[in-house]
Amino acid sequence: MKSFKDIYKESTNKISGIAAAPGITIGDAYLFTKEKLDINKSDITDIEEAKKNLQEALEKSKLELNKVFAIAREKMDGVRAAIFEAQLMILDDPILIQTINRRIEQEKKQPEFIVDDEISKYQDKMILSRENYMKERAHDIEDIKQRIIRNLQKKRWQSKIQQDVIVISESLTPADTILFSKNKAKSFVTDHGGLTSHAAIISRSLNIPAVVGTHNATVQIKDGDKVIVDGFHGYVIINPSDEQTDFFTKKRLRLIELQKDLEELKDKPAVTKDGKEIKLFANVDVTGEIDIVITSGASGIGLYRSEQILDELGEFPTEEEQVIIYSKLASRIYPGNITIRAFDIGGDKFRFLEYREPNPFLGLRGIRLLLENQTLFKNQVRAVLRSSEHKNIKFMLPMITTISEIRESKKIIEECKTELKKENFHFDNDIEIGIMVEVPSVAFMTKDFAAEVDFMSIGTNDLIQYLLAVDRGNDLVSELYQEFNPVVLRILKYIIDDAKKSKKPLSLCGEMAADTLAIPVLVGLGLQELSISAATIPYAKKIIRNFEYKRAKKLVDSCLKMLTEKEIEDAVQKFFEDNNIMRTRQII
Ligand code: PEP
Ligand code: MG
Repeated sequence: MKSFKDIYKESTNKISGIAAAPGITIGDAYLFTKEKLDINKSDITDIEEAKKNLQEALEKSKLELNKVFAIAREKMDGVRAAIFEAQLMILDDPILIQTINRRIEQEKKQPEFIVDDEISKYQDKMILSRENYMKERAHDIEDIKQRIIRNLQKKRWQSKIQQDVIVISESLTPADTILFSKNKAKSFVTDHGGLTSHAAIISRSLNIPAVVGTHNATVQIKDGDKVIVDGFHGYVIINPSDEQTDFFTKKRLRLIELQKDLEELKDKPAVTKDGKEIKLFANVDVTGEIDIVITSGASGIGLYRSEQILDELGEFPTEEEQVIIYSKLASRIYPGNITIRAFDIGGDKFRFLEYREPNPFLGLRGIRLLLENQTLFKNQVRAVLRSSEHKNIKFMLPMITTISEIRESKKIIEECKTELKKENFHFDNDIEIGIMVEVPSVAFMTKDFAAEVDFMSIGTNDLIQYLLAVDRGNDLVSELYQEFNPVVLRILKYIIDDAKKSKKPLSLCGEMAADTLAIPVLVGLGLQELSISAATIPYAKKIIRNFEYKRAKKLVDSCLKMLTEKEIEDAVQKFFEDNNIMRTRQII
């Protein structure tokens, strides 16, 4: 039988990208273009019903915008925050609303058509204005128009979502990815995005094969084309020949068999041949993923990315809503532990905030945003505490850069405890508080930061991005995003050794641990706890059970002396060959 290499060498109908989530799928392409709401122009019979729908949509839009505005006011200077105020004023503009209602009565057309038409008139005037400021405002009005129409159509972000398709898009936000997964998307292919963009991470957690950073998939692939997505090697085949279809169908079947084999490892420990046990935890991005976690044989949840709730709900959850979510997760995973990470909003993660920072990854993200939005932070802390009664929840702070941020956060946590005691709530008074080690400033002072907290977890996704000054989601620089760059290995060694001096537990929850090639390196460096996507746990286990710790340590000792990524990668590949360890790609 031909190999992947042979097949790809011969194929002219392929495009290449970054292999973002493993797996092979064959299906129909669905070209997804964002924000295009189809306007229903049809006549109506029930005028009162239409006016009631309009009123409800205006109120829902106001509710959404008020939340955005509240944050904007705390975050931005008055002038910029005023954009949202202006949008809110449009929603309350009596003349506009009267006009729309009157036109509904007279023209007997769908409210969405009248809203579109009436607000577009405003915009046209603004676009024709000579003042740039007014032209800009026309864009803001587009946003409010789309929001009202979307709410009239009682839709969240997209108009049409087809089921069981391969989604082809320029880019995908985490919210898009989740929405599509709910509609059983088979695969994702995007023009932009890198391996650690959040859309890619979510694809991996949901076990949906994905190829990102193809540059031109949306140009090459037409809606309805038959496509094959190879999330192992990062290729997409367009309108495959019979031979290609046959080849990939066989590979898919082989993969299903392999997954069955791996399931047998579920209850076995991840222990090296010479007896060193590595605890494998699961990263959870989407609440629904918990079932996969339970079946994966994970020791617990090492990272729960709570910000995904915002994407799932489309808005900030209340304290009560959060209590329900966290308590459910904690009881499902009991007696295992769950580490809930505070909302890591910002960077590429949250398109809910409708303003753009010039440099979001270096901006108001994670703990920085939470400390400035204390109401939001306190709501979450209270909810986490209220869910912690069974003592199996830990709380972790993202994007910590300074010691003061930890102290300030702990002060807020203590305030919440005092409040809850007064309100007679029961909670784990000794809840463990930890931090992500993902900003180089923390890495270089690991021992000192460790002294302030109960545990730490290395986030390689951001650590690599900030260490090498390379945007984790930008495919133009993905070559430079090197997990085997010598400095990455050296900083990991530094963190691990320094943390040992502090005697505080240290784990690693970045995607590096999900790269099966990196596993012997991480184990050899001395890590004993890894948190990875649930789908990767069986593969990681299979690999760990196939080498000796002392050999992995030797491998690391030699890699730490090397100067280029290539040398290190070659050495690790050789380790796999010498020890006869198969990686996923070779297995299929
Ligand atoms: C990381 O940065 O490695 C991490 C685990 O967090 P996230 O990917 O959510 O930023
Ligand atoms: Mg991070």
